[in-house]
Amino acid sequence: MILDVAVPVPVDRLFSYLPPREGPVPDQGCRVMVPFGRRTVTGVVVAAREVRQDDPGETVPEKGLKEILRVLDAEPLFGESWLEMARWVSRMYLTTLGETLATMLPGAKKAKDLPLAGGDEPALAPRELELSPEQIQAIETISRPLSPGEESWHYLYGITGSGKTEVFLQLAERALAAGRGVIYLVPEIALTHQLFDHISRRFGAVAAMLHSGLTPARRLGEWRRIQRGEARLVVGARSAVFAPLERVGLIIIDEEHEGSYKAGNAPRYHARQVALWRSVQDGAACVMGSATPSVEAWHLMQTGRLGRLVLSRRLAGGALPSIRTINIRGASGLISPPLKEALIETHRQGGQSILFLNRRGFAAAFQCRSCGDQAECPRCSVPMTYHKGQSRLVCHYCGHRCHPEQVCSRCGSLDVGYTVFGTERIEEDLSRELPGLSLARVDADTTRPKGYLQDVLERFARGEIDLLLGTQMVAKGLNFPGVRTVGIIMADTGLNLPDFRAAERTFALIVQVAGRAGRFRDDGQVLVQTLRPEHDAIGRAAAMEVEEFYRQELETRRALLFPPFSRLIRLVVRSSRRDAAEEASEALGRMARSAAGTLPGDRAVDVLGPAPAALERIKNNWRYQIILRGAGLGELHRVCRPLVAESGKMRQVHLEVDVDPVNLL
Ligand code: ADP
Ligand code: ZN
Ligand code: ZN
Repeated sequence: MILDVAVPVPVDRLFSYLPPREGPVPDQGCRVMVPFGRRTVTGVVVAAREVRQDDPGETVPEKGLKEILRVLDAEPLFGESWLEMARWVSRMYLTTLGETLATMLPGAKKAKDLPLAGGDEPALAPRELELSPEQIQAIETISRPLSPGEESWHYLYGITGSGKTEVFLQLAERALAAGRGVIYLVPEIALTHQLFDHISRRFGAVAAMLHSGLTPARRLGEWRRIQRGEARLVVGARSAVFAPLERVGLIIIDEEHEGSYKAGNAPRYHARQVALWRSVQDGAACVMGSATPSVEAWHLMQTGRLGRLVLSRRLAGGALPSIRTINIRGASGLISPPLKEALIETHRQGGQSILFLNRRGFAAAFQCRSCGDQAECPRCSVPMTYHKGQSRLVCHYCGHRCHPEQVCSRCGSLDVGYTVFGTERIEEDLSRELPGLSLARVDADTTRPKGYLQDVLERFARGEIDLLLGTQMVAKGLNFPGVRTVGIIMADTGLNLPDFRAAERTFALIVQVAGRAGRFRDDGQVLVQTLRPEHDAIGRAAAMEVEEFYRQELETRRALLFPPFSRLIRLVVRSSRRDAAEEASEALGRMARSAAGTLPGDRAVDVLGPAPAALERIKNNWRYQIILRGAGLGELHRVCRPLVAESGKMRQVHLEVDVDPVNLL
């Protein structure tokens, strides 16, 4: 007997082992410790074969094979159809099966059962809500029986408070009643806990929670409960899309537009992509929801692949806030007089305020301070980044370099230059200008003691803090009834980033902030400071011209051949040695170009770069990127696979492969 084991190494094949000397032979789906070179690694048994010694076709002699050292699981962690999903993820995201399994499976050796939040008490009967006609229509449409092979992909498009969660829960109830499993994804681990508490009260012990923030033992405990069929409603962040449910009937993706659904390490999978694939395999419905769908999802709605269901009203009251843009061109400080006035006025009336700074906007931008115009690459139409050391502008897509202009080409102003902003500087300005307000700052970058964030948010909720200053991270849980005023300090900082999704993200930020600001009162106001009030992403968001924004953004993407009108694979070559990274990226770029050259014209693949990555150096690693762009993944994979194999032979460099990248920094 020979066991084929997937080992977490970047070599794209299985490795054969003999059963352990003692004890039972592990089944397919069990983790095992095996000798690998001079190391011992944890792999997963994916196949078992009998070997007949007289079989002339047998090429792997039993002799010379090593034995499995230890079997970690008495029971398999997955079955055949789950393994099929792992194989698909591995092929799709160009990561070996062993590395893919290591990410998808829980890591612990011993399970620990979670104390059930719902306990043994029976689930609460759902509160009788009279559903709105739009909610009823959404539920009926989504739970319509499918004919074989039919896709059931839907989008619940509606602002916060329009009743999406209630629709999701009622759909889940129906799927459970039909004996099927449900996966309910939310973008953040913190939100998982909130939702899980809510769901356990309503559904009882059938709920499970799965995310990477659980201790490995708990994660495995939940995994086993799901496998045994005790838990059929799985709530979790990105990785919960891999829950070992037998027959999934429904997959929910809340806040579909969130970038956190995309994994940052190999395999760099997108939970939305996996969910769509899985829904087709199991004949399940897949339902996404957001007030600001990704441009890709919007496009799929327009082409009819995703059924669009609109929830147009707030059901529990609360008006949308007023939104105002404030032009801060030529302003000296970062807090404009109207914003300062609004903060003081709000405080005087006993209300609270929140100020946002776009966290992703700290990249160095070269900008006209009079008109806000930003240097763009003449070849790629993405903003260029200023490199202070060389005083050059660099395009991080194609590598184009030039000297910055000393005069703005748009308005003729001489006041052009390099800008960076940070929360600390704004905090100083604020405490100087608004001495009467108690102020707290929260951001991910500061080295704060553990529990600081929680503490600040609790004090803010109790009204002990008047003004909260933070990055997007405070936007998510914006459920503070005392908040009247929300300010965005510099809405355009995100627009300066060399990423074709910059406008989409800026638009979503403003709409999301606005959608949350007015939940509890009718006099909510949002003030958006900007250097470019006329920019589409800002003007349209402030005017709530959502349809127009997407229409225009899709036109731009089509003209520049960016997704959803193309697919991309992003390759990042990194090394602690700059010359090694650069040389390797050039060699891979040449390989990519010659492979692309053999493709027929209608299947063409563009090779952009190599160029220094926008974040050129991370953790002492130099990064160079190549972007492959094509109409379909088939040819992109074909160009990319040999590069991955080649990079395995290169010394001192590591290749990151990102299929359908979301982040291009
Ligand atoms: P969303 O998920 O879109 O933010 P929720 O489903 O959380 O919206 O609903 C927002 C609020 O409206 C909740 O307090 C919920 O209980 C309430 N709600 C939902 N549906 C209805 C309804 N049909 N009638 C009255 N209130 C509703
Ligand atoms: Zn200008
Ligand atoms: Zn360029």
